[in-house]
Amino acid sequence: MSASCIFCKIVKGEIPSFKLYESAKTFAFLDIGPTSKGHALVIPKYHGAKLHNIPDEDLVELLPVAKKIAKALEVDTDGPDGIGYNILQNNGRIAHQMVDHLHVHVIPKRVEKEGLI
Ligand code: 5GP
Ligand code: ZN
Repeated sequence: MSASCIFCKIVKGEIPSFKLYESAKTFAFLDIGPTSKGHALVIPKYHGAKLHNIPDEDLVELLPVAKKIAKALEVDTDGPDGIGYNILQNNGRIAHQMVDHLHVHVIPKRVEKEGLI
């Protein structure tokens, strides 16, 4: 844990979040500035900025939890092909990382409709 890290504070409940999932090593919550409705972040509780800073054992749940969130999106089936999603994980400012605690984005993609992205 890092005392100054906003995602560590979210894990500890010091900053509020809309929690989607929690286990001993992993936490998932809605992004505060969503690219689309349901944009979620999956993080290890272990504090490290980039993928290569995190021990393997703290990484193993990240994709399975992203998969659970993606599965939950299946109920939202607008459009002929249902819903899609992008999985995104940025490392370093040059790669558009703004929060220095590893996080995996789950970004739903839907058919564009007025008032619904
Ligand atoms: P990055 O650009 O580092 O890959 O993505 C960081 C993400 O964290 C952004 O999508 C941003 O909206 C989100 N974010 C930043 N601060 C907070 C916060 O305090 N709470 C939540 N829920 N999301 C945050
Ligand atoms: Zn942290």
